[in-house]
Amino acid sequence: MSIPSEIQQLHAEMRQWRRHLHQFPETAFEETATAEFIAGKLSGFGLDVHQGLGKTGVVATLSTGDGAGKIALRADMDALFIQERNTFDHKSRHDGKMHACGHDGHSAMLLGAASYLARHRDFDGTVYFIFQPAEEGRAGAKQMILDGLFEKFPADCVFGLHNFPDIPLGHFAVKSGPMMASFDCFEIILTGQATHAAMPHLGNDAIVAAAQLITALQTIVSRTVDPAEQAVVSITQIHAGQTWNALPESVVLRGTFRCFSDSAQKTIADKISQLTHALCQGFNVTAEIKLNPENPGYPITFNTEEETRMALNAAIAIVGEDCINRQPTPSMGSEDFAFMLQEKPGCYLWLGNGSSENGCLLHNPHYDFNDAILPIGAAYWVKLVETALPK
Ligand SMILES: [Zn+2]
Ligand SMILES: [Zn+2]
Repeated sequence: MSIPSEIQQLHAEMRQWRRHLHQFPETAFEETATAEFIAGKLSGFGLDVHQGLGKTGVVATLSTGDGAGKIALRADMDALFIQERNTFDHKSRHDGKMHACGHDGHSAMLLGAASYLARHRDFDGTVYFIFQPAEEGRAGAKQMILDGLFEKFPADCVFGLHNFPDIPLGHFAVKSGPMMASFDCFEIILTGQATHAAMPHLGNDAIVAAAQLITALQTIVSRTVDPAEQAVVSITQIHAGQTWNALPESVVLRGTFRCFSDSAQKTIADKISQLTHALCQGFNVTAEIKLNPENPGYPITFNTEEETRMALNAAIAIVGEDCINRQPTPSMGSEDFAFMLQEKPGCYLWLGNGSSENGCLLHNPHYDFNDAILPIGAAYWVKLVETALPK
């Protein structure tokens, strides 16, 4: 492990920041106190700070020398609607909200890197530190981009990271190509004709049609998507009926699908529509399909080769080749950093949090970011900047 002593010395301060953020979690587009806290620290380091992109987003700029290179580093800062069940001192003070995904740690590590780089400036060019809102399901990255993120801060490339329980502590996992799946939601409303349960022939039963449809949708991955691809289609909600002896007029199905290629994403969406309409016609039931009815879907998190090589080299310089997994299995989870990777070449990697036995898995009410990796993440960011923008 090769962590500059000045970053080691920042460990206690980063832990303090991280635990402060953990105590006061804020959810999508409401990260106002979080943004103020982060912007205050960045201003204190002497950086130019911009607020308000994506409502609560914070972007700080640090330039040194006359190099033209511009690199963007991104941390997410939102929490989840989960009631924390930890009892330690820095547990959430906000009822029903908690940092169960470690975004408190991501913010603290990037602040640590900003603090170090502002003092040492051992690079030549421009660094943009992006603190984004609403990663959890609300596409804060997309909102920042729509608000002009990359016009105001024209980075050449962009980098992100996520802590990952069950990857050994301080190990990095990264590869070029897809790291995380695309994520889409769908809602299907089937409308038949309500009738007495004893006289089904006098109506059109939307429940039986829905049952057939749920089974038919299970064939999309097995019969329509190329077997060499990975994909999943899940129905996650069924809503219908109010009583024992009547067939309801309508059934609402909701679900999600995830995959690793644009072609599979389109195939699945098309097939959901085709199966739904064809099957419903046979049952005299009408169907309305809404794709991503509440929030935007997330694209595939796709790492470009050159930027993955840069990230790998920085990680190796910090933790050594033995602590690098170059062939991680891509996750069926998704990540809105994917929107930034659609705009700019870049790389997203996982930093091991250690065993999940004590720290639990992400989105668990007992989760707590492992403070031991704060200096490792900060040192990785610093190394990445120093190697991407050499003096
Ligand atoms: Zn999460
Ligand atoms: Zn997360």
